[in-house]
Amino acid sequence: MKKEIIYSVIVPLFNEELVIRESYRRLKEVMESTKEVYEIIFVNDGSIDKTEKIVEEICELDSSIELVNFSRNFGHQAAITAGMDISKGKAVIVIDADLQDPPEVMLEMIKKWKEGYDVVYGKRAKREGETFFKKFTAKTYYRLLKSMTTVDIPVDTGDFRLIDRRVCDALISLPEKNRFVRGLVSWLGFNQTSVEFVRQERFAGETKYPLKKMLKLAFDGVTSFSFKPLMIANYIGGLSLFIGFVSFIGVIINDIVKNLNILNLGFVLSINLIMFGLIFVFIGVMGQYIGRIFDESKNRPLYIVDNIVNKKEVNKAYEIRS
Ligand code: UDP
Ligand code: MG
Repeated sequence: MKKEIIYSVIVPLFNEELVIRESYRRLKEVMESTKEVYEIIFVNDGSIDKTEKIVEEICELDSSIELVNFSRNFGHQAAITAGMDISKGKAVIVIDADLQDPPEVMLEMIKKWKEGYDVVYGKRAKREGETFFKKFTAKTYYRLLKSMTTVDIPVDTGDFRLIDRRVCDALISLPEKNRFVRGLVSWLGFNQTSVEFVRQERFAGETKYPLKKMLKLAFDGVTSFSFKPLMIANYIGGLSLFIGFVSFIGVIINDIVKNLNILNLGFVLSINLIMFGLIFVFIGVMGQYIGRIFDESKNRPLYIVDNIVNKKEVNKAYEIRS
């Protein structure tokens, strides 16, 4: 009789040829120590290096490994979602390939899950070997996001987390395309807790999250969970209307009294530039929302799978989405 899978470990991969072997070794070691049945799902998000070949070699030797190859790069959040869609474990763990999230922390997550928690997220107590820019922007962003939303998205957490099967099923039933998975997990609720860990330096290679991808993810987070950026336009519009009205009265009084001359051409021009700037910024903000509505309305799948290596029977969600 086939044994039931207890743990599914999902590892998104984008050009990770330098880390994948070590990553596999460490993950395997940790999962073997659980003495329970597990599967490791590597999702190759359109890598153009030797990632696919290396994981294929691993798959040949180890049937507990599955490899999902995307037809192109669809992004980290899509890769995580694909992993969840095909996962069968009772607990699902998402972990980065570059060993910045230490695999050993998964054992602490499993312990909490066995205590009855449905979601155990990794909280970064400290970040090693990352640039000041990355640390500063991440820290500021998490706090800004928290201040904007009514959903309690914990600060300093990424996608390194364990979720129970019922949370995973609820999560994959959410249809949205521009996914901010960590926010969606918070939105779902259930019984959540955290384990603290020190985020390590990347084992090898460079970050696969250049500024452009970081900004996209940051906007996905904000637009998925808050209308505040749109409302700020309202407030600023109201304020400038008020200031405009007061200065209009000031100009009339100035004309009558003729002893004040604050409204020179330079002043008027700079006010104009500021106002035009603000208008364009807010058109851009609206564009961020409208673009996402457009994406949703097209109803294209979140990702396209080229092939699956060591494919076992797949979860229902995968069949529905693909
Ligand atoms: N990743 C991915 N698709 C992408 C970018 C990244 O699957 O388009 C994977 C990457 O291989 C890694 C994880 O997502 O396993 C996190 O990426 P990375 O470590 O480069 O991000 P950082 O830790 O620098 O924020
Ligand atoms: Mg990393």
